[in-house]
Amino acid sequence: MTTAPPPISEPDPSALVCPGDRVGLCASCQRKTHKYGSGGCPLCQWCMAPVMERWGPGVRYVSTRV
Ligand SMILES: [Zn+2]
Repeated sequence: MTTAPPPISEPDPSALVCPGDRVGLCASCQRKTHKYGSGGCPLCQWCMAPVMERWGPGVRYVSTRV
């Protein structure tokens, strides 16, 4: 996937299709994303993609330590 992330003012697509009370800010870029509840993720898909590549699809919680 080579698509560049949209500006952070754009919510993650997942935020548009989940209940509003499950929307939160991405832990990394502060974009609105589906953060809480079933299927939620602390990172938006744009921040999640490289993490998934590195750690695999089972990753749920991501350390932001560098
Ligand atoms: Zn993000």
